[in-house]
Amino acid sequence: MTTTPGVRPARPRKPQLNLTVRSREQLSPSMVRVVLGLDEPERYADIDPPEKYVKLVFLHPGTEDLGTAQPGAEDPGTAPGRNPDYWELKETLPGDRQPVTRHLTIRRYVPERNELWMDFVLHGDEGFAGPWAARAEPGDRIIALGPGGKWTPSPNAAWTLIAADDAAVPAALAVLEALPASAQGEVLLEVDSPRDVQPVSGPAGMAVRWVFRADVGPGEDPALVRAVREAGWPTAPEGVQVFAHGERELMKALREELFTRRRLERDQVSLSGYWAQGRTEDVFQSEKKLPVGKII
Ligand SMILES: Cc1cc2nc3c(=O)[nH]c(=O)nc-3n(C[C@H](O)[C@H](O)[C@H](O)COP(=O)(O)OP(=O)(O)OC[C@H]3O[C@@H](n4cnc5c(N)ncnc54)[C@H](O)[C@@H]3O)c2cc1C
Repeated sequence: MTTTPGVRPARPRKPQLNLTVRSREQLSPSMVRVVLGLDEPERYADIDPPEKYVKLVFLHPGTEDLGTAQPGAEDPGTAPGRNPDYWELKETLPGDRQPVTRHLTIRRYVPERNELWMDFVLHGDEGFAGPWAARAEPGDRIIALGPGGKWTPSPNAAWTLIAADDAAVPAALAVLEALPASAQGEVLLEVDSPRDVQPVSGPAGMAVRWVFRADVGPGEDPALVRAVREAGWPTAPEGVQVFAHGERELMKALREELFTRRRLERDQVSLSGYWAQGRTEDVFQSEKKLPVGKII
């Protein structure tokens, strides 16, 4: 491949996955699980990292029938149901009718049933992903791009800390389930209140603690920051690995804890903002290139 100096080569396009909702389950007052069937399982190429995600695609009303049809699930109403081609829509539609994308973790891939589980935070009526999940019904169709994902826990870590807010709970629990049975460490999960706690399974040596925003008074540190500070850290930073994902400002506060107080090296930590208070994902993603959006 030839490259022009200064011009970044185009990223390879993620495959389009055509998905059909099979079920929706309320996991807690603030989280819903949507189980999605892969219409063409052969298009889905699984990857190793336990924290893997797709970009869900939300089409502008009136554009659902445009573009070259992709084979998809039969739509009982207007058979044969077909999904448009995302990349074609992206290239041909004007800015105000472009498809919108949202990152969602693949909480679990079940190959024998050709299905993906995704757990969505219910954060009100604003946005696309949360409101869509709240109303998803069996038979609903949606497009996703992916999967993507990079971070894989080291099987040799002496102590692992997993810290997440609600949006990153699905990724945190997928990581926890992928740790070796001998893993030692702590899992700290921040949600609104005890009503948002879910059943968790993982290695016996990984102590799980839920912390609650409802317990935090005005001006106090966020519950997750306090919990990370109070965790049972080993005396030396060697052999420690950290997975800390969630709201952007929360992650910035953790950056101080991890790199300044705990003296961890960059390669010991996966620190990632998943969303930002008061920002849609489009704004949040575009700010990643600006000082306000940078975490490390
Ligand atoms: C790699 C990755 C994996 C992710 N995995 C998941 C996942 O498994 N489950 C999940 O729910 N989210 C996940 N997220 C976060 C999700 O992509 C964002 O929360 C996204 O903004 C949701 O889109 P939306 O259309 O619902 O809301 P948007 O249109 O993006 O935002 C509308 C409004 O809602 C607010 N908002 C957005 N998310 C939240 C939230 N979680 N809590 C409170 N307010 C919010 C915004 O600040 C904005 O004011 C992940 C993000 C990344 C980068």
